[in-house]
Amino acid sequence: MSSKLLLTPGPTNIPEEYLEILGSDIIHHRTPKFREIMKENNENLKKIFKTTNDVAILTSSGTGSMEAAIVNFFSKGDKVLAINTGYFGDRFRKIGEIYGLNMINLQYEFGESYNLDDVKKVIAENPDLKGILATHSETSVGILNNIKALGDLTKNTEILLVVDTISGLVVNEFDFDGWHVDVAIAGSQKAFLIPPGLAFVAVSDKAKKAMETSDLPKYYFDLKQYEKYFDASAETPYTPAIALILALNQSLKDLVKNGIENTINQKRDLRKYVEEKAQKLGFELLVKNEENRTNTLISVYREGIIIKSVITALEEKGYTVTGGKGKYAESLMRIGILGQISKEQIDDFFVIFEEEIKKQL
Ligand SMILES: *Cc1c(COP(=O)(O)O)cnc(C)c1O
Repeated sequence: MSSKLLLTPGPTNIPEEYLEILGSDIIHHRTPKFREIMKENNENLKKIFKTTNDVAILTSSGTGSMEAAIVNFFSKGDKVLAINTGYFGDRFRKIGEIYGLNMINLQYEFGESYNLDDVKKVIAENPDLKGILATHSETSVGILNNIKALGDLTKNTEILLVVDTISGLVVNEFDFDGWHVDVAIAGSQKAFLIPPGLAFVAVSDKAKKAMETSDLPKYYFDLKQYEKYFDASAETPYTPAIALILALNQSLKDLVKNGIENTINQKRDLRKYVEEKAQKLGFELLVKNEENRTNTLISVYREGIIIKSVITALEEKGYTVTGGKGKYAESLMRIGILGQISKEQIDDFFVIFEEEIKKQL
């Protein structure tokens, strides 16, 4: 058992079974055994993203896949809309800007989801719009953004819908093909319950066409190379994080076996459980609208409580939780529930949490 319970939106504690795989000797990445694992991982990732296209596996943190999602599909000066509902949405906007895209920034208050009418207006006023960058589950605040509604707007257009579902996938409903998403990215240390180091990229046929003409510089993240190597031999172009790919194999099998719908329902149930316990302690939920709450984490605050010192105390007692960012740096607490966490563990945590709160009252 780990000495600290990570109540964080990634990384999570690692289940024992995956630790054993991670602690074993590795195999070479240009062997039949490795190719077999790559093929299995691809088939299971397709089930999880809900797509018929292959899913690329990159050795990088999630941010590397954000960069890949930009440099492979756009060209210098392309007009691209960033739907900015928090810290990670803003990171997407920044990467676009650094690569010379002509970014339009739709900025929302922390805790608010985007407004569909604003997006419709941008599309109507910008007939040359090439893409929309959206965050499915905005981890910095706990917002779940409606991706399906964006796909309905972009599906019969040239606009690419690029979605960061790094912390959203697995624990929230997501349907790559059904929602007409063009590029979606996810990361190993979030709901896959393995350490950081792998990122996954799903690509639609429409996005593959844009890949042909994209002129932004890329080498390590050139997805055409990943596609070429996978098609030819089910390998990656460069040495991947082999140990993580082996652990991913087991994690994906477990997720598929448990059932995608079951996992989502279990997490929704756990989220509601945490919400109720926090409200009983006098805390308020940052995200007021239930349909905009992600099953990844719960953001809570209470007038008069300086949460920063509570978080420090909890860390010493074996619980890692995270605070807010920006204007919520002092007041917000984010309770992540991506890991294999039971209601009993939540109960134990709230006993300690309550003790710490009482010290401030
Ligand atoms: C964690 C996360 C990222 C960044 O991932 P890193 O692995 O830290 O690079 C990006 N977007 C969202 C929504 C995330 O939750």
